[in-house]
Amino acid sequence: MAYAKVLVVEDNPDILELVTYNLEAQGYEVLRAVTGESGLACARKENPDLIILDVMLPGLNGLDVCRKLKQEESTRRTPVILLTAKSEDSDVISGLELGADDYITKPFSPKVLIARARALLRRLSEEAGVAGGDLLQVHAITLDSGRHEVSVDGEPANLSATEFAILKHLMSNPGRVFSRGQIIDAVRGGNYPVTERSVDVQILGLRKRLGNEGQHIETVRGVGYRLRGAP
Ligand code: MN
Repeated sequence: MAYAKVLVVEDNPDILELVTYNLEAQGYEVLRAVTGESGLACARKENPDLIILDVMLPGLNGLDVCRKLKQEESTRRTPVILLTAKSEDSDVISGLELGADDYITKPFSPKVLIARARALLRRLSEEAGVAGGDLLQVHAITLDSGRHEVSVDGEPANLSATEFAILKHLMSNPGRVFSRGQIIDAVRGGNYPVTERSVDVQILGLRKRLGNEGQHIETVRGVGYRLRGAP
């Protein structure tokens, strides 16, 4: 995805400039918005490959924007990275619950931002590159990598890109236990710090979205998680 289009929604002009400069230096096309409302409008219109979204915005804040993006058919699959201040820990949890894929705490280094953006875009293009749809089925859960869709008992389940990647990893290895660190490595390609707590939040969200089938994702105390194999 050499010419991936990235939408940056940020009201602080210095941060907006810094992020834009670094993304453009890597060859990304950058769209910019300084309010939640205009960011949302731009996302609907331009269909970006990735959205970098500040949480603290005047008016419609980043969490409101994230919620709306994830509710709308045309934008719900677009990955979102939240930019948060250190003091906004609860916002990170809410954001991940709303379907954001990752977050970066301010102040951040542009290198970290680029690495995260690249990892997310790479993962998505790899998933999209699976031709013809490679189907995984465990219990009543079906995961179609080609179409990037999950259904439970034939009903579509709306997963965020990160929830999808975690489920795909668990479904590819039913019955096997993974530590939080292994799950992070599997979905992000490793090599950068992500809190283990954010894995817990993603798993909680995943269970919720899978309804009754969510119970098959077991917490293995002191170790991590596994998807119970089909009987
Ligand atoms: Mn802000």
